[in-house]
Amino acid sequence: MTNLLYQTDSYLKEFDAEVTAIDSDNRAVCLDQSAFYPGGGGQPCDRGTLTVSGLDFPVEKVKKQGNDVFHYLGGDRPLPDLHADAHGVLDWEHRFSLMRTHTALHILCGVVFRDYGALVTGGNMEPLHGRMDFEFETLHGDLVSEIEAAVNREVDADHDVRVQILPREQAFQIPDLIRTKINLLPEGILEVRTVEIVGLDLQADGGTHVNKTSEVGRIRVTDYKSKGAINKRIYIEVV
Ligand SMILES: [Zn+2]
Repeated sequence: MTNLLYQTDSYLKEFDAEVTAIDSDNRAVCLDQSAFYPGGGGQPCDRGTLTVSGLDFPVEKVKKQGNDVFHYLGGDRPLPDLHADAHGVLDWEHRFSLMRTHTALHILCGVVFRDYGALVTGGNMEPLHGRMDFEFETLHGDLVSEIEAAVNREVDADHDVRVQILPREQAFQIPDLIRTKINLLPEGILEVRTVEIVGLDLQADGGTHVNKTSEVGRIRVTDYKSKGAINKRIYIEVV
């Protein structure tokens, strides 16, 4: 089982760990703890470097398998030994871009729900670019400019972003979480991690976010399109 360091400190850029399992077919190692985000909820996985016994291995992909986080190592060097001490360093530019983008998408969600009552049906992101689908009947250019202005007002309002890990029963009593389909969480999950943009948005979410909305920067709506009668897609860029 890997202790997920990014869940409580998204600003952790490096960490020490122990190799707890090796998958030699896939050149992947599991660590007892990790700051690498394994991907999920629309946020791509981290990449970076793992140093073991003075040798650097590029971390090309990170994936969760059950409660373990596997780090896929590039190059052709022999893999580290089991129980070896490792030091991980994130590609911080990549990760911080994703944190800004992920928080930008939550701001967009919060604004669109507050101002138009539209629910999110899906989303995806890459560093500094993202898209979200909403249950919107009509979306036109004026509305999109209105949304863009409103999201940037929320960036400037410099809301705190608060992360909490709550017991399942407690999380289920928060009405705001119901709209993000918390009720679809599998039975076996006893704790729910929530990400709150204080005063704007609250979601059950496993991703990494900035601490204050001002860290996002400017949000530009770059495009929008209809994905069916009630589904509309909005594309954003963070600059
Ligand atoms: Zn999210």
